[in-house]
Amino acid sequence: MIKIYDTMSRDLREFVPIEDGKVKMYVCGPTVYNYIHVGNARSTVAFDTIRRYFEYRGYEVAYISNFTDVDDKIINRAKEEGITPQEVADKYIAAFREDVTALGVKPATRHPRVVEFMIDIIRFVEELIEKGFAYESQGDVYFRVEKSHNYAKLANKTLEDLELGASGRTDEETARKENPVDFALWKAAKSGEISWDSPWGPGRPGWHIECSVMSTEILGDTIDIHGGGADLEFPHHTNEIAQSEAKTGKTFANYWMHNGFVNIDNVKMSKSLGNFITVHDALKTLDGQVLRFFFATQHYRKPINFTEKAVRDAETNLKYLKNTYEQPFTGNVDAQELQAFKDKFVAAMDEDFNAANGITVVFEMAKWINSGNYDASVKQAFADMLEVFGIVFIEEVLDVEIEDLIQNAKKRVPVVILRQRTKSVTNWLLKGLSSLTPKME
Ligand SMILES: [Zn+2]
Repeated sequence: MIKIYDTMSRDLREFVPIEDGKVKMYVCGPTVYNYIHVGNARSTVAFDTIRRYFEYRGYEVAYISNFTDVDDKIINRAKEEGITPQEVADKYIAAFREDVTALGVKPATRHPRVVEFMIDIIRFVEELIEKGFAYESQGDVYFRVEKSHNYAKLANKTLEDLELGASGRTDEETARKENPVDFALWKAAKSGEISWDSPWGPGRPGWHIECSVMSTEILGDTIDIHGGGADLEFPHHTNEIAQSEAKTGKTFANYWMHNGFVNIDNVKMSKSLGNFITVHDALKTLDGQVLRFFFATQHYRKPINFTEKAVRDAETNLKYLKNTYEQPFTGNVDAQELQAFKDKFVAAMDEDFNAANGITVVFEMAKWINSGNYDASVKQAFADMLEVFGIVFIEEVLDVEIEDLIQNAKKRVPVVILRQRTKSVTNWLLKGLSSLTPKME
């Protein structure tokens, strides 16, 4: 029985899927205006590990993670680089795919882009206006927060606190709102900006509405899990809940999951402090699989401390596991002892995907293997556990096709595979590689 720490209830809850054996999850993806930093990568790896564990437990997972390709930051970057916002988005979507492929992240079931959902967004906003949850003001449309039931419960805030906090605001945008806490669903275009026609004039959607629309359009009104970094609890996820539930009258997501921050040498990573590392730069000196292993084996909710020593330790540990995996069979395996490791692994991971405890079991198993308990069944079980953490060892190049694939990938595709699983691994590699090319899906 998998238990999930649900941010909404602030409690460990048994996971009960909407549909037996299936998981519908939506994870907020990057705003594609720059290379992703190690904080984004941690989130991507954390939810990829969670998805992989669901699959390990036999669930079929519909995993949706968007690209926010319409946003102020993209518009600004386009002006700086002298290219169109769409070109900025395409460039950094390609970079994202390349970076996360190096980290052994499986492609999502679907990576929707905002531009594909513009009509759905406009319809969604219209419906909110019809229902009295939103209003137009000088070409903008705002969500009427006071009408929302339990607003900001996710972030443990009250409307009164928020109103108090916003009461001093006097800027131009606030002047267009009925209440300073209201948030934009649609923004009128400023001159020269990219825009779409709408019933309220040319403009573009606000960030929060984009995820509400992509999630409900692709996965339905209610999903099992909605996830993202802890910094998204408020306002992003809070506003997603308010507008989605206002429109559908149903619970938006049954479980809310948030991953912790990344510290660099014990200091919170931030642009202003200058301790900001992109994955693109990190991969110049670090192996993608080592970085993956470092992220994947910490509990996803805890802060993670990125230090050279921690990464070097991950490298040493990974090497030990690889050597263990590659050694010759000894035979002499007690099936019950093997089963005990599998059970212990499941018990650890079922408890809110506790990867730190899960990896401890993997190391105990490695020790057991190294003391002369190794055969094909053990190897398979060991590989299955490692795969949950995105670690797949290749023993040799299997055929020309894979050799070609690796050559074509040029760099940084994890080059480590299982002989017994040629087919699935080939598919995985193929998927990873085709996703290096940006495309509308
Ligand atoms: Zn989102």
